[in-house]
Amino acid sequence: MFQEKIINDEILAKMSLENIFKIFNDNVFPMLNEEEREYCIELQQFCIDLQPKIDKSKDVYVLFPELGKKGYMQRINEWKDFKPYGMKKEILLGTHISFLDPQLELGRVASGILCANPTFHYYHYGGTGDTIYKVQDELLSGQKVGCIGITEPERGSDAVNLTTICTKTDDGVIFNGEKVFTTNGPSADYFCCYGVYDEANPRDTMVQGMIASKFGVKTERLKINSVPRVHIAHTILDNVKVPMEYVLADNGLGYVRLFEGLVPERLSIMGSGIGICWSGLINGIIYTNLRQQFGKPVIRYQGVGYGLADLLTKATAATSLALQAATIYDDQILFAEKPSKEAEKWVASISSQGKYYVSKLTHDICYEVQQHCGGVSVTDNTPIDELTDVSKIEEVIGGARNIQLLLIQSQIRRFMRLI
Ligand SMILES: Cc1cc2nc3c(=O)[nH]c(=O)nc-3n(C[C@H](O)[C@H](O)[C@H](O)COP(=O)(O)OP(=O)(O)OC[C@H]3O[C@@H](n4cnc5c(N)ncnc54)[C@H](O)[C@@H]3O)c2cc1C
Repeated sequence: MFQEKIINDEILAKMSLENIFKIFNDNVFPMLNEEEREYCIELQQFCIDLQPKIDKSKDVYVLFPELGKKGYMQRINEWKDFKPYGMKKEILLGTHISFLDPQLELGRVASGILCANPTFHYYHYGGTGDTIYKVQDELLSGQKVGCIGITEPERGSDAVNLTTICTKTDDGVIFNGEKVFTTNGPSADYFCCYGVYDEANPRDTMVQGMIASKFGVKTERLKINSVPRVHIAHTILDNVKVPMEYVLADNGLGYVRLFEGLVPERLSIMGSGIGICWSGLINGIIYTNLRQQFGKPVIRYQGVGYGLADLLTKATAATSLALQAATIYDDQILFAEKPSKEAEKWVASISSQGKYYVSKLTHDICYEVQQHCGGVSVTDNTPIDELTDVSKIEEVIGGARNIQLLLIQSQIRRFMRLI
């Protein structure tokens, strides 16, 4: 299981997923209602059962069907009869899959949320036909892999001014352009991609298409050391013709959907991040309680104990923020008869604040925990180093740090209209 085991057997036995969940529950269950707790218990059993079957030498995609069987590729939207669902359930799902396997969680979010969420939006806004239902079922059963293509080689943070050009034909849209950092791309069956009819007028001409790989998408895998079991692509769209029934949003509606999709995407990334924070922290708490130096557990030394106390406070605050944001999203937007405009504005801003705070915290916690635990935590004998690796990319995916701050700053400037 490890390349070479040096960790003490008793400590290793105590760092089981069962024990980690006991400590997580003690910290987080008071913030949850009965239904949410039961949902967590089910998720925890699923993780405990699946963990021994995970082969870390294999890519994450072999595990997608396992998630699909339980309706765990996503839980924001109702799919089949998997219940409960909603944003809070999605946050809790992301948290638990991060405990189980943080790289799997990254692949899941890209396929189950970033690629599949637009299929729900498609029908919500009046889309017709069965084609996209079939794509949705394939993605959410975990049988097929999806990804999202927004970022281009020359358009990262500036996700509006795309250079991928769309051309309309009688029965579809032709895409020409390049995408980069397409998570899951090299293994993907479906690419939810954005392009524009007119580069000078992206807002009014953006298109969102569900492009099947068989339409002729080419990919080259990027080397990204921190997530070796997730495939991330340079994606080439060279005269790729997309039949009209795969065009999710046309003639500028693609722009509306792009921005609408970013809010649930950022909230979901918060869920993944909360899991990384707690997993890193709890592993560190167990290890430092049991590891002895100079005749006593290292957590008794102020340098270690106070450091972990500081991190616990921040993890609790971040979790409370994520759960509260998700609750308001569910109550006032997702399940509301008439979504509240006020809540939509608030959640849009809070999803940036939360994504900014939680993604940075994943790295701070994992890095600090490694310093508190010492050498063993940079080996493969604990999950902490893999968590640190994944934490490195949390801030850049879903919009880099400064872009969240830019959005938050524009909210701050709007405050002046109130007085
Ligand atoms: C591992 C990984 C997975 C990813 N997965 C996907 C995916 O699946 N699909 C997808 O479409 N994209 C994906 N991305 C792309 C990601 O969303 C972009 O990396 C991100 O939006 C930033 O773009 P960029 O890297 O080109 O940086 P740039 O936009 O070039 O920014 C460089 C620096 O300048 C700063 N900056 C830029 N503009 C401003 C501004 N106006 N004010 C202040 N600072 C600014 C940025 O914050 C950053 O620090 C992924 C990225 C990574 C690393």
